[in-house]
Amino acid sequence: MLNDATTYISQLKDNVGQEVTLAGWLYNSRSSGKIQFLIVRDGTGLCQCVVEKGKIPEELFEQLKRLGQESSLTVTGTVREEARSVGGYELAVTNAQIISAAEDYPITPKSHGIDFLLKNRHLHLRSQRQWCIGKIRHTVIDAIRRFFNDNGFTLIDTPIFTAAAGEEEQTLFGVDYFGIPMYLTQTGQLHLEAAAMSFGRVYCFGPTFRAEKSKTRRHLTEFWMVEPEVAFIDLDGLLELAENFVTFIVTEVLQNNKDQLETLGADIASLEKIKPPFYRLTYTEAVDILTGEKTKNFVARQLEDLKSQKQQLETKIAELEEQSAEGGLKQWQKDKIAAELIGLSSTLAEVNTGIENNPRHAKLAAEFQWGKDLGGSDETIISQMHDKPVFVTHYPRQAKAFYMKTDRDNEKVALNFDLLAPAGFGEIIGGSVREDDYDLLVARIKEQGLNVENYDWYLDLRKYGSVPHGGFGLGVERTIAWLTGEKHIRQCIAFPRLMDKIYI
Ligand code: ATP
Ligand code: MN
Repeated sequence: MLNDATTYISQLKDNVGQEVTLAGWLYNSRSSGKIQFLIVRDGTGLCQCVVEKGKIPEELFEQLKRLGQESSLTVTGTVREEARSVGGYELAVTNAQIISAAEDYPITPKSHGIDFLLKNRHLHLRSQRQWCIGKIRHTVIDAIRRFFNDNGFTLIDTPIFTAAAGEEEQTLFGVDYFGIPMYLTQTGQLHLEAAAMSFGRVYCFGPTFRAEKSKTRRHLTEFWMVEPEVAFIDLDGLLELAENFVTFIVTEVLQNNKDQLETLGADIASLEKIKPPFYRLTYTEAVDILTGEKTKNFVARQLEDLKSQKQQLETKIAELEEQSAEGGLKQWQKDKIAAELIGLSSTLAEVNTGIENNPRHAKLAAEFQWGKDLGGSDETIISQMHDKPVFVTHYPRQAKAFYMKTDRDNEKVALNFDLLAPAGFGEIIGGSVREDDYDLLVARIKEQGLNVENYDWYLDLRKYGSVPHGGFGLGVERTIAWLTGEKHIRQCIAFPRLMDKIYI
């Protein structure tokens, strides 16, 4: 706050008819000679500020007219309700003060390619889209903490430097720890199991590192994961915990961020349907679905849909190109068409990728063999076929991590689950009951070619009062991508770390 008199845009609804001062940045502006419309943002929202010639000093009127995007300023004026205005309120400006004039801000309201935006992430964070995602991320993280804190869980901070692998060794990031090789943590789970034997219900929440060597829209090398771990719980108990937890996150986001979801074009109606119970499939049932007639037809229909979308997009693009070639357009009209064209072309590129991948994904699904882990495209198909999240349980033991408990009724499978978000988004949670038998766990560690010595302390937990226990991990960025309808999870963290590039 510059002074006590400054008001936030989020508070305008309580100040109708009053004179207030906003402090912020110029997001956008247009002028029609005698009247200027300044869209100001202040971190809490956007507000249209209307400047009329004659109502402020002539010199200031001219300065504002020339003021560049993202200049910082204060604006004073009377608040009035205006349904057509962004945010529902606007300011009839009586005064303004330019704090720092900006020129040639690199990110204009026209569209830019994603690479350019990532390189300019420090500035792109100010965009409406990134702001909406950031606000939703804040709610998600707050909901996560609240859910566990209010349900008898104790927060345990697990270490980031670790000596042993918790997941596949291929995705470990090595660090030189005073000459000793160590790794950045892939999961807090192993340490959390120790803590669960003290506190009963625990969770950890922090950054997680995986040297993912594939460039997918679902993988970052640094992401945030929350992991609850519970003593005395079985698979059914874990599924119930997970569905209540996810439902709580969705409810909180719907309650606090409807405006942002709308701005992002998220599918609010579908989110409103997210209530327990979620669908439950065993892995074996999922494989039957993937290799069956239903999936074959489903994927074929998708291809038809994609092809007709392609045709519609191409027609629309041709129309717009013709319009812009006609001439006689004002600059703002040209900009609008250019922005629309960039948007349509990127959708067309996605549709084309879909058309290209469809036959391969169809083949992968049709020829899926029991025993393999579900691949990204398989998860996508299953999740596209459902309107609510789907639990897939009881995966083949050999495809899963050493610590997962073997199902005593069917030794081929583990007591584990993945939760697939609906509408094609795919896995957001992985979890399991943990192997609690000392000898079986040693055998599993050896089977996976891991060094038993590294797990000495972990094995102790099975020596001293072993109990049935389990937990899961939810990826924050994937959850946000699902909720917001964002295609790539790199947009769901302020400063993403990707395999091929760290931009800023
Ligand atoms: P996938 O098979 O999709 O790589 P995983 O089986 O490796 O996932 P888990 O080890 O079960 O994932 O991790 C739990 C959760 O953490 C996942 O469900 C996902 O939400 C998140 N997660 C895992 N890896 C990544 C990653 N590289 N980037 C972002 N989130 C991730
Ligand atoms: Mn993985």
